[in-house]
Amino acid sequence: MLKKVVIANRGEIALRILRACKELGIKTVAVHSIADRELMHVRLADESVCIGAAPSPASYLNIPAIISAAEVTDAVAIHPGYGFLAENADFAEQVEKSGFVFIGPTPDLIRMMGDKVSAIKAMKKAGVPTVPGSDGPITEDNDHTLAVAKRIGYPVIIKAAAGGGGRGMRVVHSEAALLNAVYVTQSEAKAAFGDDTVYIEKFLENPRHVEIQVLADGQGSAIHLGDRDCSLQRRHQKVLEEAPAPGIPDDIRNQVAKSCVDACIAINYRGAGTFEFLYENGQFFFIEMNTRIQVEHPVSEMVTGVDLIKQQLLIAGGEKLSITQDDIVIKGHAFECRINAEDPKTFMPCPGLIKHYHPPGGLGIRVDSHLYSGYSVPPHYDSMIAKIITWGDSREIALSRMRNALDELVVEGIRTNTDLHRDLVRDAAFKEGGVSIHYLEKKLKL
Ligand code: ADP
Repeated sequence: MLKKVVIANRGEIALRILRACKELGIKTVAVHSIADRELMHVRLADESVCIGAAPSPASYLNIPAIISAAEVTDAVAIHPGYGFLAENADFAEQVEKSGFVFIGPTPDLIRMMGDKVSAIKAMKKAGVPTVPGSDGPITEDNDHTLAVAKRIGYPVIIKAAAGGGGRGMRVVHSEAALLNAVYVTQSEAKAAFGDDTVYIEKFLENPRHVEIQVLADGQGSAIHLGDRDCSLQRRHQKVLEEAPAPGIPDDIRNQVAKSCVDACIAINYRGAGTFEFLYENGQFFFIEMNTRIQVEHPVSEMVTGVDLIKQQLLIAGGEKLSITQDDIVIKGHAFECRINAEDPKTFMPCPGLIKHYHPPGGLGIRVDSHLYSGYSVPPHYDSMIAKIITWGDSREIALSRMRNALDELVVEGIRTNTDLHRDLVRDAAFKEGGVSIHYLEKKLKL
Protein backbone atom coordinates (compact mmCIF):
# COMPACT_ATOMS: atom_id res chain seq x y z
CA MET A 1 0.00 0.00 0.00
CA LEU A 2 1.22 3.52 -0.83
CA LYS A 3 2.15 5.45 2.35
CA LYS A 4 1.98 9.05 1.22
CA VAL A 5 0.59 10.57 -1.98
CA VAL A 6 1.09 13.99 -3.55
CA ILE A 7 -2.14 15.29 -5.09
CA ALA A 8 -0.95 17.23 -8.13
CA ASN A 9 -4.24 18.94 -8.89
CA ARG A 10 -6.82 21.32 -7.44
CA GLY A 11 -10.53 21.83 -6.91
CA GLU A 12 -13.09 19.06 -6.64
CA ILE A 13 -10.86 16.27 -7.97
CA ALA A 14 -8.10 17.05 -5.46
CA LEU A 15 -10.67 16.75 -2.69
CA ARG A 16 -12.04 13.55 -4.21
CA ILE A 17 -8.53 12.00 -4.28
CA LEU A 18 -7.86 13.17 -0.72
CA ARG A 19 -11.02 11.46 0.52
CA ALA A 20 -10.08 8.17 -1.17
CA CYS A 21 -6.56 8.35 0.30
CA LYS A 22 -7.96 8.94 3.78
CA GLU A 23 -10.24 5.95 3.45
CA LEU A 24 -7.24 3.78 2.64
CA GLY A 25 -5.10 5.27 5.42
CA ILE A 26 -2.75 6.97 2.95
CA LYS A 27 -1.16 10.27 4.04
CA THR A 28 -1.77 13.21 1.69
CA VAL A 29 0.27 16.14 0.45
CA ALA A 30 -1.60 18.99 -1.24
CA VAL A 31 0.49 20.97 -3.70
CA HIS A 32 -1.09 24.28 -4.64
CA SER A 33 -0.51 27.65 -6.24
CA ILE A 34 -0.41 30.92 -4.34
CA ALA A 35 -4.01 31.56 -5.42
CA ASP A 36 -5.21 28.26 -3.96
CA ARG A 37 -4.19 28.48 -0.30
CA GLU A 38 -7.83 28.46 0.75
CA LEU A 39 -8.86 25.34 -1.18
CA MET A 40 -10.79 22.84 0.90
CA HIS A 41 -8.40 19.94 0.27
CA VAL A 42 -5.39 22.08 1.24
CA ARG A 43 -7.04 22.56 4.62
CA LEU A 44 -7.74 18.86 5.00
CA ALA A 45 -4.44 17.41 3.74
CA ASP A 46 -1.82 16.11 6.16
CA GLU A 47 0.74 18.45 4.58
CA SER A 48 0.70 21.15 1.95
CA VAL A 49 3.34 22.76 -0.23
CA CYS A 50 2.98 25.96 -2.24
CA ILE A 51 4.54 25.19 -5.62
CA GLY A 52 4.32 28.49 -7.45
CA ALA A 53 2.45 31.47 -8.75
CA ALA A 54 -1.20 31.44 -9.76
CA PRO A 55 -0.87 30.86 -13.53
CA SER A 56 -0.80 27.08 -14.05
CA PRO A 57 2.50 27.00 -16.02
CA ALA A 58 4.17 28.27 -12.83
CA SER A 59 2.43 25.78 -10.52
CA TYR A 60 0.16 22.91 -11.65
CA LEU A 61 2.21 22.43 -14.84
CA ASN A 62 5.55 23.02 -13.12
CA ILE A 63 7.09 19.53 -13.18
CA PRO A 64 10.28 20.25 -11.16
CA ALA A 65 8.25 22.01 -8.44
CA ILE A 66 5.83 19.08 -8.10
CA ILE A 67 8.61 16.50 -7.95
CA SER A 68 10.52 18.63 -5.40
CA ALA A 69 7.37 18.75 -3.26
CA ALA A 70 7.26 14.94 -3.32
CA GLU A 71 10.93 14.83 -2.33
CA VAL A 72 10.72 17.24 0.59
CA THR A 73 7.63 15.56 2.02
CA ASP A 74 8.93 11.97 1.59
CA ALA A 75 5.91 11.03 -0.48
CA VAL A 76 6.01 7.82 -2.54
CA ALA A 77 3.52 8.52 -5.30
CA ILE A 78 1.89 11.30 -7.31
CA HIS A 79 -1.76 11.39 -8.41
CA PRO A 80 -2.22 13.73 -11.39
CA GLY A 81 -6.06 13.92 -11.34
CA TYR A 82 -7.43 15.08 -14.71
CA GLY A 83 -6.31 17.95 -16.94
CA PHE A 84 -2.96 19.66 -16.20
CA LEU A 85 -0.24 16.94 -16.38
CA ALA A 86 -2.53 13.88 -16.24
CA GLU A 87 -1.82 12.78 -19.82
CA ASN A 88 1.70 14.15 -20.13
CA ALA A 89 4.00 11.19 -20.79
CA ASP A 90 7.12 13.25 -20.04
CA PHE A 91 5.75 14.06 -16.59
CA ALA A 92 4.96 10.41 -15.88
CA GLU A 93 8.48 9.52 -17.01
CA GLN A 94 10.14 12.13 -14.81
CA VAL A 95 8.05 11.07 -11.84
CA GLU A 96 9.22 7.48 -12.29
CA LYS A 97 12.85 8.45 -12.96
CA SER A 98 12.82 10.46 -9.74
CA GLY A 99 11.84 7.31 -7.87
CA PHE A 100 8.12 7.95 -7.34
CA VAL A 101 5.07 6.00 -8.44
CA PHE A 102 2.98 7.72 -11.12
CA ILE A 103 -0.66 6.90 -10.40
CA GLY A 104 -1.67 6.02 -13.94
CA PRO A 105 -0.39 4.01 -16.89
CA THR A 106 3.24 3.75 -17.99
CA PRO A 107 4.73 6.69 -19.95
CA ASP A 108 4.86 4.50 -23.07
CA LEU A 109 1.13 3.78 -22.90
CA ILE A 110 0.30 7.45 -22.35
CA ARG A 111 2.47 8.31 -25.34
CA MET A 112 0.87 5.67 -27.54
CA MET A 113 -2.67 6.81 -26.70
CA GLY A 114 -1.71 10.51 -26.94
CA ASP A 115 -0.91 9.94 -30.61
CA LYS A 116 -4.30 9.23 -32.14
CA VAL A 117 -2.84 7.48 -35.17
CA SER A 118 -0.95 4.96 -33.03
CA ALA A 119 -3.92 4.65 -30.66
CA ILE A 120 -6.33 3.79 -33.48
CA LYS A 121 -3.81 1.33 -34.93
CA ALA A 122 -3.46 -0.46 -31.59
CA MET A 123 -7.23 -0.53 -31.07
CA LYS A 124 -7.93 -1.86 -34.52
CA LYS A 125 -5.39 -4.62 -33.95
CA ALA A 126 -7.10 -5.52 -30.69
CA GLY A 127 -10.53 -5.76 -32.31
CA VAL A 128 -12.05 -2.45 -31.15
CA PRO A 129 -14.37 -0.99 -33.84
CA THR A 130 -12.90 2.19 -35.37
CA VAL A 131 -14.16 4.90 -37.74
CA PRO A 132 -13.53 4.07 -41.42
CA GLY A 133 -10.51 6.13 -42.34
CA SER A 134 -7.04 6.51 -43.79
CA ASP A 135 -5.52 3.82 -41.55
CA GLY A 136 -2.54 5.94 -40.65
CA PRO A 137 -1.12 9.36 -41.42
CA ILE A 138 -1.72 10.85 -44.83
CA THR A 139 1.36 11.42 -46.95
CA GLU A 140 2.48 14.07 -49.42
CA ASP A 141 1.04 12.01 -52.25
CA ASN A 142 -2.03 14.12 -53.11
CA ASP A 143 -3.48 11.56 -55.49
CA HIS A 144 -3.40 9.01 -52.70
CA THR A 145 -5.08 11.44 -50.28
CA LEU A 146 -7.84 12.13 -52.79
CA ALA A 147 -8.30 8.41 -53.38
CA VAL A 148 -8.50 7.70 -49.64
CA ALA A 149 -11.22 10.33 -49.12
CA LYS A 150 -13.13 9.05 -52.11
CA ARG A 151 -13.03 5.51 -50.75
CA ILE A 152 -14.26 6.68 -47.30
CA GLY A 153 -16.93 8.89 -48.87
CA TYR A 154 -17.68 12.55 -48.08
CA PRO A 155 -18.10 14.22 -45.67
CA VAL A 156 -14.73 13.39 -44.08
CA ILE A 157 -12.93 14.89 -41.10
CA ILE A 158 -9.22 15.69 -41.10
CA LYS A 159 -7.73 15.25 -37.64
CA ALA A 160 -4.33 16.01 -36.11
CA ALA A 161 -2.65 12.94 -34.61
CA ALA A 162 -1.51 15.06 -31.66
CA GLY A 163 -4.84 16.93 -31.35
CA GLY A 164 -6.78 17.32 -28.13
CA GLY A 165 -9.48 19.37 -26.46
CA GLY A 166 -11.49 19.51 -29.67
CA ARG A 167 -8.71 21.33 -31.54
CA GLY A 168 -6.96 20.30 -34.75
CA MET A 169 -9.99 19.04 -36.72
CA ARG A 170 -11.62 20.11 -39.97
CA VAL A 171 -14.69 18.76 -41.74
CA VAL A 172 -14.59 18.54 -45.56
CA HIS A 173 -17.74 18.11 -47.65
CA SER A 174 -16.34 17.91 -51.18
CA GLU A 175 -13.31 16.77 -53.11
CA ALA A 176 -12.59 20.32 -54.27
CA ALA A 177 -11.98 21.45 -50.70
CA LEU A 178 -9.93 18.45 -49.53
CA LEU A 179 -6.30 19.27 -50.28
CA ASN A 180 -6.46 22.84 -49.03
CA ALA A 181 -8.15 21.64 -45.81
CA VAL A 182 -5.40 19.05 -45.31
CA TYR A 183 -2.78 21.74 -45.75
CA VAL A 184 -4.45 24.15 -43.30
CA THR A 185 -4.98 21.42 -40.66
CA GLN A 186 -1.33 20.37 -41.00
CA SER A 187 -0.11 23.96 -40.51
CA GLU A 188 -2.39 24.48 -37.53
CA ALA A 189 -1.32 21.17 -35.97
CA LYS A 190 2.34 22.08 -36.42
CA ALA A 191 1.78 25.44 -34.71
CA ALA A 192 -0.43 24.12 -31.90
CA PHE A 193 1.13 20.71 -31.13
CA GLY A 194 4.56 20.81 -32.84
CA ASP A 195 3.52 17.83 -34.99
CA ASP A 196 1.90 18.16 -38.41
CA THR A 197 0.77 14.52 -38.71
CA VAL A 198 -2.88 14.35 -39.79
CA TYR A 199 -5.24 11.54 -40.77
CA ILE A 200 -8.69 11.25 -42.34
CA GLU A 201 -11.86 9.73 -40.93
CA LYS A 202 -15.42 9.40 -42.11
CA PHE A 203 -17.37 12.31 -40.60
CA LEU A 204 -20.36 10.94 -38.73
CA GLU A 205 -23.20 13.41 -39.05
CA ASN A 206 -25.36 12.82 -36.02
CA PRO A 207 -23.63 10.52 -33.52
CA ARG A 208 -23.87 10.19 -29.76
CA HIS A 209 -20.80 10.22 -27.51
CA VAL A 210 -20.69 6.97 -25.57
CA GLU A 211 -17.64 5.85 -23.61
CA ILE A 212 -16.52 2.74 -21.75
CA GLN A 213 -14.81 2.88 -18.35
CA VAL A 214 -12.07 0.33 -17.72
CA LEU A 215 -9.78 -0.70 -14.89
CA ALA A 216 -6.66 -2.80 -15.45
CA ASP A 217 -3.83 -3.81 -13.14
CA GLY A 218 -0.99 -4.18 -15.65
CA GLN A 219 -0.61 -7.70 -14.32
CA GLY A 220 -2.92 -9.47 -16.74
CA SER A 221 -6.35 -8.50 -15.42
CA ALA A 222 -8.79 -5.96 -16.83
CA ILE A 223 -12.50 -5.25 -16.41
CA HIS A 224 -15.01 -2.73 -17.74
CA LEU A 225 -17.49 -0.78 -15.63
CA GLY A 226 -20.10 -0.22 -18.28
CA ASP A 227 -20.74 2.83 -20.40
CA ARG A 228 -21.58 6.50 -20.06
CA ASP A 229 -23.41 8.83 -22.43
CA CYS A 230 -21.76 12.26 -22.66
CA SER A 231 -23.53 13.60 -25.73
CA LEU A 232 -24.65 16.86 -24.13
CA GLN A 233 -21.68 19.03 -25.06
CA ARG A 234 -20.96 22.64 -25.85
CA ARG A 235 -17.83 23.38 -27.88
CA HIS A 236 -16.68 19.79 -27.29
CA GLN A 237 -16.96 20.32 -23.52
CA LYS A 238 -19.20 17.85 -21.72
CA VAL A 239 -22.01 19.46 -19.73
CA LEU A 240 -24.23 16.63 -18.40
CA GLU A 241 -23.48 12.90 -18.36
CA GLU A 242 -25.30 9.71 -17.50
CA ALA A 243 -24.73 5.99 -16.99
CA PRO A 244 -25.69 3.71 -18.55
CA ALA A 245 -26.17 5.18 -22.04
CA PRO A 246 -29.93 4.92 -22.70
CA GLY A 247 -31.50 2.85 -25.43
CA ILE A 248 -28.53 0.78 -26.58
CA PRO A 249 -29.23 -2.94 -27.09
CA ASP A 250 -27.40 -5.01 -24.49
CA ASP A 251 -25.65 -7.25 -27.00
CA ILE A 252 -24.11 -4.24 -28.80
CA ARG A 253 -23.19 -2.61 -25.49
CA ASN A 254 -21.57 -5.74 -24.10
CA GLN A 255 -19.71 -6.54 -27.29
CA VAL A 256 -17.97 -3.16 -27.46
CA ALA A 257 -17.18 -3.20 -23.73
CA LYS A 258 -15.63 -6.63 -24.11
CA SER A 259 -13.49 -5.40 -27.01
CA CYS A 260 -12.15 -2.64 -24.70
CA VAL A 261 -11.22 -5.21 -22.05
CA ASP A 262 -9.48 -7.31 -24.72
CA ALA A 263 -7.58 -4.21 -25.85
CA CYS A 264 -6.47 -3.50 -22.26
CA ILE A 265 -5.07 -7.00 -22.01
CA ALA A 266 -3.44 -6.75 -25.46
CA ILE A 267 -1.58 -3.51 -24.63
CA ASN A 268 -1.05 -4.50 -20.96
CA TYR A 269 -2.91 -1.41 -19.77
CA ARG A 270 -2.56 -0.25 -16.16
CA GLY A 271 -4.93 1.92 -14.13
CA ALA A 272 -8.23 3.59 -14.92
CA GLY A 273 -8.99 4.48 -18.52
CA THR A 274 -11.77 5.47 -20.87
CA PHE A 275 -12.42 4.36 -24.43
CA GLU A 276 -14.34 7.11 -26.21
CA PHE A 277 -16.69 6.18 -29.04
CA LEU A 278 -19.10 7.82 -31.40
CA TYR A 279 -22.32 5.79 -31.61
CA GLU A 280 -24.54 6.04 -34.66
CA ASN A 281 -27.14 3.72 -36.20
CA GLY A 282 -26.45 0.95 -33.72
CA GLN A 283 -22.68 0.96 -34.30
CA PHE A 284 -19.74 2.03 -32.13
CA PHE A 285 -16.70 3.81 -33.58
CA PHE A 286 -13.60 4.34 -31.42
CA ILE A 287 -12.21 7.89 -31.50
CA GLU A 288 -9.70 8.04 -28.65
CA MET A 289 -8.62 6.67 -25.30
CA ASN A 290 -8.15 8.79 -22.18
CA THR A 291 -5.44 7.41 -19.91
CA ARG A 292 -6.66 9.05 -16.70
CA ILE A 293 -9.60 9.40 -14.37
CA GLN A 294 -12.33 11.52 -15.97
CA VAL A 295 -14.54 14.28 -14.64
CA GLU A 296 -17.63 12.13 -15.21
CA HIS A 297 -16.30 9.03 -13.40
CA PRO A 298 -18.86 9.34 -10.55
CA VAL A 299 -21.79 8.20 -12.69
CA SER A 300 -20.01 4.87 -13.24
CA GLU A 301 -19.25 4.66 -9.52
CA MET A 302 -22.91 5.19 -8.70
CA VAL A 303 -24.18 2.38 -10.92
CA THR A 304 -21.40 -0.13 -10.10
CA GLY A 305 -20.61 0.69 -6.47
CA VAL A 306 -16.89 0.67 -7.31
CA ASP A 307 -14.69 3.51 -6.01
CA LEU A 308 -12.54 4.22 -9.08
CA ILE A 309 -10.03 6.47 -7.32
CA LYS A 310 -9.47 3.88 -4.62
CA GLN A 311 -8.88 1.30 -7.34
CA GLN A 312 -6.34 3.61 -8.97
CA LEU A 313 -4.48 3.90 -5.66
CA LEU A 314 -4.55 0.14 -5.05
CA ILE A 315 -3.32 -0.65 -8.57
CA ALA A 316 -0.53 1.94 -8.26
CA GLY A 317 0.44 0.29 -4.98
CA GLY A 318 1.09 -2.91 -6.92
CA GLU A 319 -2.05 -4.82 -5.99
CA LYS A 320 -3.83 -7.08 -8.42
CA LEU A 321 -7.43 -6.27 -9.33
CA SER A 322 -9.61 -7.87 -6.69
CA ILE A 323 -12.83 -7.23 -8.65
CA THR A 324 -13.78 -9.57 -11.48
CA GLN A 325 -16.07 -8.84 -14.43
CA ASP A 326 -18.76 -10.97 -12.80
CA ASP A 327 -18.70 -8.69 -9.74
CA ILE A 328 -19.73 -5.74 -11.92
CA VAL A 329 -23.49 -5.48 -12.00
CA ILE A 330 -24.96 -2.26 -13.39
CA LYS A 331 -27.63 -1.20 -10.92
CA GLY A 332 -30.02 1.67 -11.65
CA HIS A 333 -29.12 4.89 -13.39
CA ALA A 334 -27.00 7.97 -12.60
CA PHE A 335 -26.67 11.55 -13.87
CA GLU A 336 -24.01 14.20 -13.38
CA CYS A 337 -24.44 17.94 -13.92
CA ARG A 338 -21.29 20.04 -14.16
CA ILE A 339 -21.88 23.33 -12.37
CA ASN A 340 -19.62 26.06 -13.75
CA ALA A 341 -18.88 29.57 -12.53
CA GLU A 342 -19.91 31.23 -15.76
CA ASP A 343 -22.38 33.67 -17.16
CA PRO A 344 -25.53 31.74 -18.17
CA LYS A 345 -25.89 33.69 -21.42
CA THR A 346 -22.36 34.42 -22.66
CA PHE A 347 -20.68 31.40 -20.98
CA MET A 348 -17.84 33.71 -19.95
CA PRO A 349 -16.12 32.58 -16.70
CA CYS A 350 -17.45 34.35 -13.64
CA PRO A 351 -14.98 33.97 -10.76
CA GLY A 352 -15.42 35.70 -7.42
CA LEU A 353 -16.52 35.41 -3.81
CA ILE A 354 -19.18 32.82 -2.93
CA LYS A 355 -21.29 34.65 -0.39
CA HIS A 356 -23.56 31.73 0.31
CA TYR A 357 -23.40 28.06 -0.67
CA HIS A 358 -26.03 25.46 0.06
CA PRO A 359 -25.55 22.03 -1.54
CA PRO A 360 -28.51 19.72 -2.14
CA GLY A 361 -28.95 16.49 -0.19
CA GLY A 362 -31.11 13.43 0.30
CA LEU A 363 -31.25 9.83 -0.82
CA GLY A 364 -29.29 9.17 -4.01
CA ILE A 365 -27.72 12.64 -4.14
CA ARG A 366 -23.95 13.13 -4.23
CA VAL A 367 -22.12 16.45 -4.49
CA ASP A 368 -18.45 16.48 -5.47
CA SER A 369 -17.34 20.05 -4.82
CA HIS A 370 -14.70 22.07 -3.03
CA LEU A 371 -17.03 25.01 -2.43
CA TYR A 372 -17.93 26.58 0.90
CA SER A 373 -19.51 29.89 1.87
CA GLY A 374 -16.78 32.52 1.86
CA TYR A 375 -14.62 30.71 -0.71
CA SER A 376 -13.42 32.84 -3.58
CA VAL A 377 -13.27 31.19 -7.03
CA PRO A 378 -9.95 32.31 -8.56
CA PRO A 379 -9.90 33.50 -12.19
CA HIS A 380 -6.90 31.43 -13.26
CA TYR A 381 -8.37 27.96 -13.75
CA ASP A 382 -11.21 25.90 -15.19
CA SER A 383 -14.61 27.28 -14.20
CA MET A 384 -16.13 24.01 -12.92
CA ILE A 385 -17.04 24.44 -9.25
CA ALA A 386 -19.26 21.46 -8.46
CA LYS A 387 -20.62 18.19 -9.80
CA ILE A 388 -24.14 17.25 -8.75
CA ILE A 389 -24.59 13.51 -9.11
CA THR A 390 -27.82 11.60 -8.60
CA TRP A 391 -28.66 7.92 -8.56
CA GLY A 392 -31.97 6.09 -8.77
CA ASP A 393 -33.35 2.61 -9.39
CA SER A 394 -34.54 3.84 -12.77
CA ARG A 395 -33.59 6.66 -15.16
CA GLU A 396 -36.82 8.46 -14.24
CA ILE A 397 -36.07 8.40 -10.50
CA ALA A 398 -32.46 9.51 -10.99
CA LEU A 399 -33.68 12.36 -13.20
CA SER A 400 -36.39 13.50 -10.80
CA ARG A 401 -33.83 13.48 -7.99
CA MET A 402 -31.61 15.66 -10.21
CA ARG A 403 -34.48 18.10 -10.74
CA ASN A 404 -34.93 18.36 -6.97
CA ALA A 405 -31.19 18.61 -6.32
CA LEU A 406 -30.75 21.44 -8.83
CA ASP A 407 -33.72 23.27 -7.33
CA GLU A 408 -32.15 23.00 -3.86
CA LEU A 409 -28.69 24.16 -4.93
CA VAL A 410 -27.81 27.71 -3.85
CA VAL A 411 -24.62 29.45 -5.01
CA GLU A 412 -24.76 33.18 -4.28
CA GLY A 413 -22.25 35.85 -5.19
CA ILE A 414 -21.26 34.61 -8.64
CA ARG A 415 -23.14 33.59 -11.75
CA THR A 416 -23.41 29.89 -12.60
CA ASN A 417 -24.88 27.65 -15.29
CA THR A 418 -27.36 26.06 -12.83
CA ASP A 419 -30.38 27.38 -14.73
CA LEU A 420 -29.14 25.73 -17.94
CA HIS A 421 -29.11 22.39 -16.10
CA ARG A 422 -32.55 23.05 -14.59
CA ASP A 423 -33.78 23.57 -18.12
CA LEU A 424 -31.99 20.52 -19.55
CA VAL A 425 -33.37 18.06 -17.01
CA ARG A 426 -36.86 19.18 -18.04
CA ASP A 427 -36.15 19.04 -21.78
CA ALA A 428 -38.51 16.64 -23.56
CA ALA A 429 -35.92 15.12 -25.94
CA PHE A 430 -33.37 14.69 -23.17
CA LYS A 431 -35.99 13.07 -20.95
CA GLU A 432 -36.67 10.69 -23.80
CA GLY A 433 -32.93 9.85 -23.95
CA GLY A 434 -30.38 9.35 -26.68
CA VAL A 435 -29.89 12.86 -28.10
CA SER A 436 -26.87 13.45 -30.37
CA ILE A 437 -23.71 15.47 -29.75
CA HIS A 438 -25.23 18.42 -31.64
CA TYR A 439 -28.41 18.61 -29.58
CA LEU A 440 -27.28 21.09 -26.92
CA GLU A 441 -25.68 23.59 -29.31
CA LYS A 442 -28.78 23.53 -31.53
CA LYS A 443 -31.01 24.06 -28.50
CA LEU A 444 -28.88 26.99 -27.29
CA LYS A 445 -29.24 28.72 -30.64
CA LEU A 446 -33.04 28.65 -30.51
P1 ADP B 1 -10.19 15.57 -28.79
O1 ADP B 1 -9.03 14.77 -28.36
O2 ADP B 1 -9.79 16.91 -29.30
O3 ADP B 1 -11.30 15.60 -27.79
P2 ADP B 1 -11.73 13.61 -30.36
O4 ADP B 1 -11.11 12.71 -31.35
O5 ADP B 1 -12.13 13.01 -29.05
O6 ADP B 1 -10.75 14.85 -30.12
O7 ADP B 1 -12.97 14.31 -31.00
C1 ADP B 1 -13.64 15.37 -30.33
C2 ADP B 1 -15.02 15.56 -30.88
O8 ADP B 1 -15.00 15.85 -32.28
C3 ADP B 1 -15.91 14.34 -30.78
O9 ADP B 1 -16.52 14.22 -29.51
C4 ADP B 1 -16.93 14.63 -31.89
O10 ADP B 1 -17.83 15.61 -31.43
C5 ADP B 1 -16.08 15.24 -32.95
N1 ADP B 1 -15.56 14.20 -33.86
C6 ADP B 1 -14.35 13.60 -33.84
N2 ADP B 1 -14.24 12.67 -34.82
C7 ADP B 1 -15.41 12.69 -35.50
C8 ADP B 1 -15.94 11.96 -36.63
N3 ADP B 1 -15.23 11.02 -37.26
N4 ADP B 1 -17.21 12.25 -37.04
C9 ADP B 1 -17.94 13.19 -36.40
N5 ADP B 1 -17.51 13.90 -35.36
C10 ADP B 1 -16.26 13.68 -34.89
